[in-house]
Amino acid sequence: MGLRKARIISLATAFPAAVPSAGSPIEFTDLGLIPQLLRAVRVEEYTTPTPIQRQAIPHLLQGRDLLGCAQTGTGKTAAFALPILQRLTNTPRAANGQRPIRVLVLAPTRELVAQIAQSFKAYGRFLPHATASIFGGVSQVPQVNALRKGTDIVVATPGRLLDLMEQGHVRLDHVEVLVLDEADRMLDMGFIVPIRHIVRSMPKQRQTLLFSATMPREIMALAQSLLTSPVNVAVTPVSSAATRIDQRVAYVDKGEKLNLLLDLLKRAAVSRTLIFTRTKHGADKLAQHLQRAAIRVEALHGNKTQGARERALDNFRAGRSPVLVATDIAARGIDVEGISHVVNFDVPVEAEAYVHRIGRTARAGAEGTAITLCSIEERLDMRSIEKLIGQRVPVLEGTVEPMEMRQPARSLQPTRPGFRPGRRSFGPRGRR
Ligand code: AMP
Repeated sequence: MGLRKARIISLATAFPAAVPSAGSPIEFTDLGLIPQLLRAVRVEEYTTPTPIQRQAIPHLLQGRDLLGCAQTGTGKTAAFALPILQRLTNTPRAANGQRPIRVLVLAPTRELVAQIAQSFKAYGRFLPHATASIFGGVSQVPQVNALRKGTDIVVATPGRLLDLMEQGHVRLDHVEVLVLDEADRMLDMGFIVPIRHIVRSMPKQRQTLLFSATMPREIMALAQSLLTSPVNVAVTPVSSAATRIDQRVAYVDKGEKLNLLLDLLKRAAVSRTLIFTRTKHGADKLAQHLQRAAIRVEALHGNKTQGARERALDNFRAGRSPVLVATDIAARGIDVEGISHVVNFDVPVEAEAYVHRIGRTARAGAEGTAITLCSIEERLDMRSIEKLIGQRVPVLEGTVEPMEMRQPARSLQPTRPGFRPGRRSFGPRGRR
């Protein structure tokens, strides 16, 4: 199962860009990994390393710091987990009879924490290291018990980790490796203060890795304060996602979106569908509408309890509910195979979120379709997306692109004669 090819992009100039040398290793066996890890990789049925794995693993094995511009879907978890597990295996732990935390991975959401911890367990299946997950929204008791028993690796969301530190349940004075994953998302979610607190409690002498899908100024500043002579690795599945995923846009009145969605869901090829809404309330409302139309559907967002989120994901994964309605943040890091369709019920405001959303389909070599339902009010957001991905998204078969949309974006004035927002001005052809 080959991952989509990633394209090397250049990073901001604060750090020199990493250039893969012509002699870059191309097989897992070329990367210098120990046999137990190579075996685990074989169990996972990974045949060749992804670009980020090829570029990062040899440097990380040497103990270098790393700044990675990469998002979920590039294979970045294995890129850091494999060398970390090798480091733990090759260097004996402090011999005071205890099991101190030697690796800390910080990630923005519970789902991502669970997924990263799962990856450490999978890649470390032939090694003795223990991994604990720490996240909010659930009882802290099992987490505290896991910490008491001793664990080599902790994967945590910053808020709950800081809580447990303040209660005296966590000591970070033996941490050798710190990973900040999806750093941009952590900053967006207001985790910068907890992160700074947490970092202050660990030794300065350590290996630090920072991954981020985007590199705004705040991230570069954080990287500069935490990393020492980092190697830079930048990969993005944007271009290949755009070519591998069949993208479509349907220009439709806001009030007609639900009907069009119901039509789409009836089509035979639409098997496992992930639908995005902008808000939690919107996700709940849409899920209720779909339920009323006898569609088995789950909603996933931050207001749900941990139990409800896990149940929703399990039902979606197992196919008991073929439709999942989610918000961007809740869906971050979800790795469900076989998603045939991603539907943007609302056009995302941030163009980059579009790339993350559609990347949920066409995972690990599969094909996928992404359909965006765009109302006239959302047309400028759609234009920004097309600018980012560098292509016009073709119109969904059976629907039309209204004249208003064909104008250059800046000449579109919702109040100009002939169009008033909210009026039924356009929609899918033949569906009235
Ligand atoms: P990540 O970007 O770490 O979330 O990984 C995305 C998906 O790619 C996960 O399902 C991994 O299991 C899978 N994956 C990671 N490395 C490889 C590889 N070398 N070959 C095939 N699949 C991989």
